[in-house]
Amino acid sequence: MSKVVISIALVGLVAGGTATVVLYSSNLRMEIRAAPDPGAVDDEPPDPGQFRVHLVDVDTGLGMLIQGSDFNLIYDGGSRDNRAQGRKNRLLAYLWQAIGPSGDEDCRPVEDGVGAAPGTQLTIQNLVLSHPHQDHAVLLPDVLRCYDVEVVWDSGAINDTKMYREFLQAVAAEPGVIYRTALAPPADRTVTVNGASITMATWEQFAEGGPPITLGTNATMRILHADGAAHSDPNENSIVLRLDLGQTSMLLMGDGESGQRMEPAQADGVTTNPLGDIEEHLVTTYPTEIDVDILQVGHHGSETSSRLGFLKAVSPDVALLSSGGFKYGSKVLPDQSVVDMLESEEDRIVLRTDLLDAHTPGVDESDRCGSDTNKIGDDNDTKDGGCNSWIIDLDDGVEEPCCRTCTKKACGDGCIAATSTCWKPPGCACGPT
Ligand SMILES: [Zn+2]
Repeated sequence: MSKVVISIALVGLVAGGTATVVLYSSNLRMEIRAAPDPGAVDDEPPDPGQFRVHLVDVDTGLGMLIQGSDFNLIYDGGSRDNRAQGRKNRLLAYLWQAIGPSGDEDCRPVEDGVGAAPGTQLTIQNLVLSHPHQDHAVLLPDVLRCYDVEVVWDSGAINDTKMYREFLQAVAAEPGVIYRTALAPPADRTVTVNGASITMATWEQFAEGGPPITLGTNATMRILHADGAAHSDPNENSIVLRLDLGQTSMLLMGDGESGQRMEPAQADGVTTNPLGDIEEHLVTTYPTEIDVDILQVGHHGSETSSRLGFLKAVSPDVALLSSGGFKYGSKVLPDQSVVDMLESEEDRIVLRTDLLDAHTPGVDESDRCGSDTNKIGDDNDTKDGGCNSWIIDLDDGVEEPCCRTCTKKACGDGCIAATSTCWKPPGCACGPT
């Protein structure tokens, strides 16, 4: 996808309501939908040549599903505050809608109107745990239990906790799974975590920078950062992926960082604060590969990530930001300075999972996610999460419905559908149909 967005059309973007934004560029169509309720999520896989990206609102954490006509990829599944397991697992409830019913009765969400459990399991070809933190991992054991997962990717760095033990035990219990880590497997394929000895039937090693790995037809992933060494902060173990889905590219950062908290730019607003850690590594080693269309913003929009120099190198058209109300230290993420920097590009779309969260300023109490019964996942937990998921449908090879031309550059200086209005800024005028 070229960096020039030829036209942008908005058919109403309302937090918590039905929303569709359509981007056209070259012959690519990118349709963005909010998924505030189960009815918005379709369990039919994308047609051949099309792809679907889901940013699942798991409250404070990260959970993503990427789909093609012939594959499913999970990148992380965890939360600090929506940690319910089994039938109340919020990610599992979303996958039941998006991939389809899978597994036995203990996999069926507690919500009303959910059909019977099939007893058989649908396939998730690849499941990636970016790094072993609760807000990325705690919802994944149920996914392994309820779906047929073929390959699990993990840094291999051990977080000696019950949470990580349960993740590895679920991997070990998955029939036929291939477990891959950035660390070399021990000879006995056994690891001890939180007092338990866990043996994998199949354990392989991977490294960053290798050739693209096929996900499905016309879809690949490349590993741009892999580190299984022990770090005091497991964020430094984040597995970074570049995905190519047809003509669209994505960068998945996990909690990849630049170092201590700093605003993206220096006081002049132009010069970047110094890069470090994973972001510096990516800019230095993979300057071409990180220039993508869609970015999963590192570490929930924290000032430990997203330095200006990094964002300029990535230059995404769409930024995905997953965060919630849990405090990391004294901070609720995302940091406003990071949001401001992301939104400083006029044509960039920033999609956030925290729009209706209780801590988010400007949300009426009656609209808050916790009291909303029309959301994906358990209705009765009164917590945030489940209200602000996002779906991006990617469609290669479509003709642009060029019906009229915007007369001001502010509209993108391009053509948009006659039924649509220009997105921003307000006051943008278009020519006749
Ligand atoms: Zn995190």
